[in-house]
Amino acid sequence: MEKLVLIGNGMAGIGCLEQILRHDHNFDITVFGDETHGNYNRIMLSSVLAGEKKAEEIVLNDLDWYRRNNIDLRLGVRITDVDPVEKTVTGENGSVTRFDKLLLATGSQPLIPSIEDVKKDGVFVFRSLDDTRALLDRARPGVKAVVIGGGLLGLEAARGLTVQGCEVTVVHLMETLMERQLDVTGASYLATKMNEMGVTVLLGLSTTAVLGNGKVEGVQFKGGGSIPAELLVIAAGIVPNVELGRKAGLEVKRGIVVNDYMETSNPDIFAVGECVQHGGICYGLVAPLLEQGKVLAATITGNKGPMYQGTVLASKLKIMGVDVFSAGEIKDKVDGSEVVRYEDPSLGIYKKLTLKDGKLTGAILVGDTTESSRYLEMLRSGKDITPLRKQLLFLPQENSAEQVAEMPDCATVCGCMGVSKGTILEAIREKGACSLAEVKETTRASTGCGSCTELCRGLLKAAVPDYREDAVKVLCACVPFAQEQLREIIRSQRLRSVQDVLEIYGDGMGCEVCKPALSYMIDVVWCGEHDEDRSARFINDRVHANIQKDGTFSVVPRMRGGVTSPAELRRIAEVAEKYNVPMVKVTGSQRLDLLGIKKSDLPKVWAELGMASGQAYTKGVRMVKTCVGTDFCRFGVQDSTSTGIELERRLENLYTPAKVKMGVVGCPRNCAEATVKDIGLVGQEGSWQVVVGGAAGKSVRKADLLVTVETTEEALEAAMLFFQYYREQANFLERTYDFVERVGIEQVRRETIYAGEGVRRGLLERLAKSKALSYDAWQEGADPRNPTQFVSIQAMEEVTQ
Ligand SMILES: Cc1cc2nc3c(=O)[nH]c(=O)nc-3n(C[C@H](O)[C@H](O)[C@H](O)COP(=O)(O)OP(=O)(O)OC[C@H]3O[C@@H](n4cnc5c(N)ncnc54)[C@H](O)[C@@H]3O)c2cc1C
Ligand code: SF4
Repeated sequence: MEKLVLIGNGMAGIGCLEQILRHDHNFDITVFGDETHGNYNRIMLSSVLAGEKKAEEIVLNDLDWYRRNNIDLRLGVRITDVDPVEKTVTGENGSVTRFDKLLLATGSQPLIPSIEDVKKDGVFVFRSLDDTRALLDRARPGVKAVVIGGGLLGLEAARGLTVQGCEVTVVHLMETLMERQLDVTGASYLATKMNEMGVTVLLGLSTTAVLGNGKVEGVQFKGGGSIPAELLVIAAGIVPNVELGRKAGLEVKRGIVVNDYMETSNPDIFAVGECVQHGGICYGLVAPLLEQGKVLAATITGNKGPMYQGTVLASKLKIMGVDVFSAGEIKDKVDGSEVVRYEDPSLGIYKKLTLKDGKLTGAILVGDTTESSRYLEMLRSGKDITPLRKQLLFLPQENSAEQVAEMPDCATVCGCMGVSKGTILEAIREKGACSLAEVKETTRASTGCGSCTELCRGLLKAAVPDYREDAVKVLCACVPFAQEQLREIIRSQRLRSVQDVLEIYGDGMGCEVCKPALSYMIDVVWCGEHDEDRSARFINDRVHANIQKDGTFSVVPRMRGGVTSPAELRRIAEVAEKYNVPMVKVTGSQRLDLLGIKKSDLPKVWAELGMASGQAYTKGVRMVKTCVGTDFCRFGVQDSTSTGIELERRLENLYTPAKVKMGVVGCPRNCAEATVKDIGLVGQEGSWQVVVGGAAGKSVRKADLLVTVETTEEALEAAMLFFQYYREQANFLERTYDFVERVGIEQVRRETIYAGEGVRRGLLERLAKSKALSYDAWQEGADPRNPTQFVSIQAMEEVTQ
């Protein structure tokens, strides 16, 4: 069997290998990749940096795929030499591997401009998953981040860092942003929008030096000016990795030169991806690379025929919420061309179309890219658009099914992954793909920027008789977005009130499902610095008490750690007698519940108790149940009581997606049932176990071990990390036991206690910020933003009617 060696486990190499496997040709395949990860979708690194996707969500082929296809995968091995005569490749680890056919798919590396002291701590590039993780480690709210490069990659980096809360400045050498994709007007629309969103854009500046003693403290520009920086990302372009091509004696210019059949100057060595140069062009986007891969797969398997004839380049991206699309010609003054354009500065919309001889030759869209795939299709097909001239800037509305019906089979549906309508139809008709997820899985369509999703759905609707939409769990009909998307929208669009979200993304009204959920999300995203709309909260939160079935209320004062005092007990007894409380009950949470209070008496009861609200009515921190521990118990090995009290003090008065009950016990006998609490601390000899996701209510679940730590402070910190992570990541009304099961404890660990220092600090800082703005609900006028929140009895009557 012929031995095929692939160097480069990236998108182009593996995309080509997938095509090779479709041909009837058996190779003994070995893949070398110097990254330690399997094949992943590099396009989505920006989403990982922006916290929208997890690393495992961007995997394209898991290890099982390699196993199933008998591919010998060698990860973390860099190939350093190619011997074209002996037909061997040599790895950095000393391994020598023979080949009959060699495929070079080594991609590119970031271009590092000549800048003095560029190797300082805090300088990053943005190319790989490791780079992204390193960036996420350092990106914290308030960190001054400078991105050198105002091209596609630089702006993607800026977006991610901004979402992470950094103060971002983009420094670009040229006078306009994205000068390869946008004209001057389009670029100025983009720059204005970025400025509005808080990103500083500095144009026409050449960076000459990185300032700082050992680590980045600033950057200096030609001419002497400088700005401070704690984190620097260099995204100034890419350079094809051609070194192995040179060593193999191939013809190399900027990239490894290939012909229309993707052959290099050596008949047994092939190349694909960003490392190659075809027709004088080195492509830097995925779609052309995948097109190249299809041609190469035919050539290498002896089915030589299809030729690669270059690709009309198109870029589509969303920068800080601004949609941008560019394809084909971007210049205004090209011989024989005419330009039609539309601008609306208030809406931030700019459209420019370039035409020549009745055909569309270029399109730039900023602010509204809904018609981008139709323009791209016109561009790629070169069809006569004269009949459409009058409507060209505002194409007649078509639904996705009509739009897709008009397209020829060779038309590209997914621009990112280069997937045609014909390929999707083949997946549906011949491979049985009948849902969007299956189309994604089989063809990769819609796994890039996602803008072709509607077209894919249209195709499914047209071709699958009993097609039903994939179940997308949206919050509710008023704001039809998944909760994860809404959190991202609130963050990236800087929305601080429920009404803003409803007006921009919803029906403007909202309902009792979405309003409390949005209230919660906005509170958590902005750590309490938001416009509180009490009417959007659940009724219990509005009246700070739990309505009982007879219309009276239950009052549960806070007793931290289940500990009280004679003075408190005396006051409780006096209040109970004075207001004729029909029942005083010891709850399962080690507190006293005064049941049957009339609503008109509530404010007086709270005032006379002189205790904080136990918030027994809210989606928030309830209590920490403790055992007596070392204080009195002869088995106690840890001080559970004061640890529990401290835990309660640190987390009380904070809202959570669903109620949070905690427990702390002084030894594994577990008298306060910490292992069935949302968060539990279990004392051990010389250590604490921190457990999460337990339950003993309608659901019963033993909590998972999060971590074992030595000191009480470490245990409290682990609990706080999980607590904030749950607040930020769980869906509203999702209890910790569902959340931990859904996400998996491994991931919870990775993203809390085993996360980088920056991530951990970020979680704790955001928690501290929320805590600083929290207040005891029974303290009249305690919320400085809303002094009248404490309703008069009359107002409460209205609310509770
Ligand atoms: C953050 C980011 C966002 C992007 N966004 C978009 C987008 O929106 N749309 C779009 O179309 N494109 C986008 N791109 C570009 C796109 O990801 C690339 O064009 C594409 O991944 C290139 O594929 P490739 O296989 O040629 O190279 P790579 O994906 O770089 O793969 C090459 C692999 O080979 C490995 N390698 C190199 N040399 C050796 C060696 N000697 N031995 C062993 N292994 C080696 C490399 O480590 C790498 O893993 C983006 C890129 C980045 C970094
Ligand atoms: S859990 Fe252990 S320390 Fe706590 S009361 Fe029970 S036996 Fe004592």
